[in-house]
Amino acid sequence: MNYQVNENGFYGDFGGAFIPEMLYPNVEELRQNYLNYINDADFQSEFQQLLKDYVGRPTPLYFAKRLSEKYNTKIYLKREDLCHTGAHKINNTIGQILVAKRLGKTRIIAETGAGQHGVATATVCALMGMECIVYMGEIDIQRQAPNVARMKMLGAEVRPATSGSKTLKDATNEAIRDWINNPTNTYYIIGSVVGPHPYPDMVARFQSIISDEIKQQLFKKEGRKSPDYVIACVGGGSNAAGAFYHFLNDENVKLIAVEAAGKGIDSGESAATSVLGKIGIIHGSKTLLMQSEDGQITEPYSISAGLDYPGIGPLHAHLFDTQRAEFIAITDNEAMQSGLNLCNTEGIIPAIESAHALAVLETRKFKENDIVVINLSGRGDKDLNTYIDYFNF
Ligand SMILES: *Cc1c(COP(=O)(O)O)cnc(C)c1O
Repeated sequence: MNYQVNENGFYGDFGGAFIPEMLYPNVEELRQNYLNYINDADFQSEFQQLLKDYVGRPTPLYFAKRLSEKYNTKIYLKREDLCHTGAHKINNTIGQILVAKRLGKTRIIAETGAGQHGVATATVCALMGMECIVYMGEIDIQRQAPNVARMKMLGAEVRPATSGSKTLKDATNEAIRDWINNPTNTYYIIGSVVGPHPYPDMVARFQSIISDEIKQQLFKKEGRKSPDYVIACVGGGSNAAGAFYHFLNDENVKLIAVEAAGKGIDSGESAATSVLGKIGIIHGSKTLLMQSEDGQITEPYSISAGLDYPGIGPLHAHLFDTQRAEFIAITDNEAMQSGLNLCNTEGIIPAIESAHALAVLETRKFKENDIVVINLSGRGDKDLNTYIDYFNF
């Protein structure tokens, strides 16, 4: 079984580049160049240097002793929460801004839902002195005021998307429109393993540093490079793609992808795409997505803003289809309890997205000698108000 993208940009039945004709030159320019750049020694040295000195990599692989005792198995946490800006997203935005520079672009656009990708993009634009425009749904701008403020402080312009439901998919439409209108000087930084080929593959490669480090760190601690399980939450799927990447062909490593069940899979308020989704096209890619009978994308819901995306990246649709990864859906309530549990057992406040991955410990029994790596995609500071409202602190 092959889990890498093929030369046509597909993972099995999923992926491709279903884009308007007018976007073709931009995407084609990227497709022709991205592998040359990524494999170039100068690119790699600049990328690795920034990951080390700016992001703070390698992030620790932390043996969670009290958590392990509680669940009677060996649990390691991959500490992406310790990255600069508080989550894994910066690994990708650094990679892409280096690609944009090499393509000779001077203007960066992005879209953001919760604002996390917008902040990670604004951060690297400030770092590189590039113009930055972030499209964001008008409703999301109201819901995510602190991230809007962060982006502005970092020098980005936040442009409201006022059409449709005024959320992420509308912001995406605006960003695509901008790119069509500014084809020569502008580069579009996409925030997850979604979008037209080559974005899903490129983003997975940038995030693959996560599993690269896990292998080396686990070897030092346990004398073997492969854990028994890798568990990660999936919004679009970039932190999971990074945590799975170097284990995809090692079938001894069981991969668990965790989606947000929201208020329950059958509640109508959920983001469990693998259960509720059907094949369709979103963001220029053929993949699983939540849609109405007549093919309209349905509004997803999760208590964690980073997981309420109506689709999953094509790699994950393929991992689901081939059963290479097991997909588990975790509700808001389960995630919130597991988030609080990590606070009390390890002194770590996780992002609510990451708390979904932790909740698998409650729904699944692992063996005493199993080595279970959970990707802690982000820290919980951004979620403090949600925690306060939920638990009445
Ligand atoms: C954005 C985000 C996610 C979800 O995005 P993926 O592309 O699925 O990784 C998960 N965790 C955190 C902390 C995030 O900020």
